[in-house]
Amino acid sequence: MVKKKKRSIATRSIHGKKLYAYKGPVVTPIYQTSTYRFENSNDAIRYAQGDPSVYVYSRYHNPTVEDVEEKLAVINETDAALLFSSGMAAISTAILSVVSSGDEIISTPTLYGGTYRFFRDVLPLFNVNVKYVDAANLSEISRLATPMTKLFYCESPTNPTVGIVDLHKAVREVKKAEKKIRRSIITMIDNTFATCLYQSPFKIGFDVSVESATKYIGGHSDVLAGTVIGKKDFIKKVRHLAKYLGGCADPFAAFLLSRSLKTFELRVERQSDNAMKLARHFNKHPKVLRIFYPGLQSHPQHAIAKKQMSGFGAMVLMEVKGGVKAAEKVCNALTVAVNAMSLGGVETLVSIPVYSSHVNMSKAELDRHGVTPGMIRISVGAEGIDDLIDDFEQALRKI
Ligand code: PLP
Repeated sequence: MVKKKKRSIATRSIHGKKLYAYKGPVVTPIYQTSTYRFENSNDAIRYAQGDPSVYVYSRYHNPTVEDVEEKLAVINETDAALLFSSGMAAISTAILSVVSSGDEIISTPTLYGGTYRFFRDVLPLFNVNVKYVDAANLSEISRLATPMTKLFYCESPTNPTVGIVDLHKAVREVKKAEKKIRRSIITMIDNTFATCLYQSPFKIGFDVSVESATKYIGGHSDVLAGTVIGKKDFIKKVRHLAKYLGGCADPFAAFLLSRSLKTFELRVERQSDNAMKLARHFNKHPKVLRIFYPGLQSHPQHAIAKKQMSGFGAMVLMEVKGGVKAAEKVCNALTVAVNAMSLGGVETLVSIPVYSSHVNMSKAELDRHGVTPGMIRISVGAEGIDDLIDDFEQALRKI
C-alpha cells in the first residue's frame, strides 16, 4: 500500500480536513446565531439522545467555531480541540475537568501570571492544592506525588523568562510517579510560546495542550481566544464542563481565527527569524545585561530547547542595566515596537514583567519565577528586522 505523504502545517492550517472537492464557499461563513431551527421536535429528541449532527445552541456548538477546532486538531496531529473565549477560559476549564476537592496538581513554578494566580488564589477555594517542582529538579515529581495527584502542568518556553522545561524528562518522571501511586496522572502543557509549529507536545507524550489563541494563532492583536487540544475522550469531558462554565468562543472570533490560521506558518516563521536576529544583535550590547532567547547558545537550556523544539519562537527577554527605571526609559522611547501587554501579533510588543504579568508579586515569588526589575519582554513581530534593530538601538541610547 502506498503511504500517504503527510501535508505540511501550512497546508493543514489553510485547508483543515477539506482536502477534497466539495461544493460551498471557500471561506467558512460566520454563523452569527445563538440558536438553530429544528425541522421538528424530533431534532430535540435526537440531540438529547446524542446525535452530534443536530445543532441546538451556540454555547454548545457552532459551525464557524467547529471549523477552527477541526483545524487546530489537524495541525496538532491529534483527535480534537475545543475553542474558548480566552486562554484563561481554556486553561481553567481544562484543569477543572481533571481535579476535584482534595486533589493535587504538580506544576513547574514559572507560569503565565494569570495561571499562577489561578493556582494560588482560586484552586485552594475548591480544596485543590498545587505543589511546585523546579524545572531543574524534575526527578522530585515522584517524591511529591500522592494518590491524590491528578495533574502535572507546565509551560515551556516559560513566560516571561523563556526558560525551558525538559519535556521528555517530565513525561518520564510522571510515568515513574504513576507507578508509585498506581494511578494515572494527566500531563498538560501550555504551548502558547512555542506553538505547534515548533513544539509537538503529543509526540513528546503529553496528554493535553492548552494555548492562548489570543497570541500566535490569532496573530494580529485583535481577538481573544483559547484552546484545549487532546484525545477525543478528554475533550468530551472538557466540552461537558465548558457547557456549564460557559467560556465558549464567539463565532466572529472564530472567523478571525480561521483567517489567521491561513498565515500561521508564514507569520510565526518570520517572527521567529526576526527574534533570532534581534537576540544575536543585542546579546553583547553594552547597555544590556543579558538576553534570554532559547536559540542562543548562551541560553542555559539551549541544548534541551534544540532537542524538543524545531524552532525557537519569537519571544525574547532583554535585561537592561539600571533596573526598572532604565527598562521604563527604553520602553517609552521605542517608536516601532509598541509598549503594550500581550504577545504573538505581527506588531512587536514590549512589556516590563514587574509591571505586567508579575505585578504585585513578593520578592520571594519573583525570585522563584526568575523575574528581575530590569527585564523587558519582547514579543517580536514581523516588521523589517533593520527597523527593529534601529529602534532598540536608539531607545537603549536613552539610558
Ligand atoms: N498562557 C500564556 C503563556 C499567556 O501568555 C497568556 C496571556 O498572556 C495566557 C495563557 C492567557 O491567555 P488569555 O489572555 O487569552 O486569556
